[in-house]
Amino acid sequence: MRNLGLFLAVISVCAGQSVEDVYRERASKIIAAAMQDEGGMAKLSYLCDRIGHRLSGSEGFTKAVAWSAATMIAGGLENVSTPTVKVPHWVRGKEMAEVVWPMRFSLSMVGLGMTGGGDVTGEVVGVRSFEELEKLGRRGVEGKIVLYHPPWVSYGVTGAFRRLGPSRAAKLGAKAVLIRSAGIPQNNSAHTGVTNFEEGVPVIPAGALTEESLGKLERLLQGGERVVVHYMSEAKMLPDADGANVIGELRGSEKPDEVIVISGHLDSWDVGQGAQDDGTGCIGPLQALILLKQLGLRPKRTIRVVFWANEENGTKGGMAYREQFKDQLKNHVIAIEMDGGAERAVGMGITGGGEKALTQMRAIGKLLQPIGAGLVTAGGGGTDLGPMMKDGVIGSGVRTVGKRYFEWHHSESDTLDKVNPDDFRRNIAQLAVFAYVLADMDLRLGN
Ligand SMILES: [Zn+2]
Repeated sequence: MRNLGLFLAVISVCAGQSVEDVYRERASKIIAAAMQDEGGMAKLSYLCDRIGHRLSGSEGFTKAVAWSAATMIAGGLENVSTPTVKVPHWVRGKEMAEVVWPMRFSLSMVGLGMTGGGDVTGEVVGVRSFEELEKLGRRGVEGKIVLYHPPWVSYGVTGAFRRLGPSRAAKLGAKAVLIRSAGIPQNNSAHTGVTNFEEGVPVIPAGALTEESLGKLERLLQGGERVVVHYMSEAKMLPDADGANVIGELRGSEKPDEVIVISGHLDSWDVGQGAQDDGTGCIGPLQALILLKQLGLRPKRTIRVVFWANEENGTKGGMAYREQFKDQLKNHVIAIEMDGGAERAVGMGITGGGEKALTQMRAIGKLLQPIGAGLVTAGGGGTDLGPMMKDGVIGSGVRTVGKRYFEWHHSESDTLDKVNPDDFRRNIAQLAVFAYVLADMDLRLGN
């Protein structure tokens, strides 16, 4: 009977059966294994609790690279390598902010990445928009500490004040900047992240206040009183450091030169544990590949797992990969990044490859209906995929329900306890099924 089954399977492939029909049994096996998996959480626990946060240039990042490569080798991956990537090296040092007038109390805050150090005291001038800042002009801003306190709308909208606000205020002569957190971390923790200073503008201290401290400061300002803040930061840029991408593979059995990339970024901000941003995005793809290996499922094409260096403050890992593999990018079938945390998986977003690729991805998605993770939508990718997507590689990003990510993101709250093991397993299942089928199906994606 076993032979009859095999015979029927061969007949059905030859008869042009659908992807769902061909892969249903294997997908069920993968999902079952992933939903019982313990290895993913064990690895994530080690990364978070034993290594911890890992900003580019830090000792934590160096340790994470060595551990990741050793873990890939122990998991049976092939061609494990750690190509060097030069990365920016920003260090926070000590920092504090306090109101010194009309009374004295300390502010809970976190400095923004890539800002400068200083020890300044100044009157606070509050603005709710860039228009309000421009209206104040140099006369209203020079020598002051600017507080951006727009209402929180979304990471994209409110985050603009983190990305651009310090530079714009510095250009008008501000001594320092405080902002409403670009994320909405709970329990008196604030959100850091990268800031860009325009060339030639002084790199001043800038930090995000917790909602609790912001509220206190806002209420004082609303009273119309003069408010003075003292802000001290030791933040500084050091010369570029050696970082690395970490790469491992499951080589394809028939078309090993055609590659499916599944990836996340190994660096994190220097707060919390980088559990959801982006520990889950590294360990998820890695564990997906290890499960395929354990199940004896070697696809026709190569699946390559990549842990990116330096997503948070430079994207140097994505750029270095593009440079390293520039002659092989045409053989990259698709590159997938998981960088939105491991809340309950719902599917994938895809950019490139046209309607054909979208339809094929949706067909694969049907295999994930049993765990509700099969929705495929147009538009997706990842910061680290940007450089190769510019060269035409199809990009894709993992989608989740995305309910709580910005309560943890870039803050002390991003710790292992925020990862629900069952949700994480669904992410692993989703990655493993998509990667396997994309690597094994007869037609190359988009054809
Ligand atoms: Zn991230």
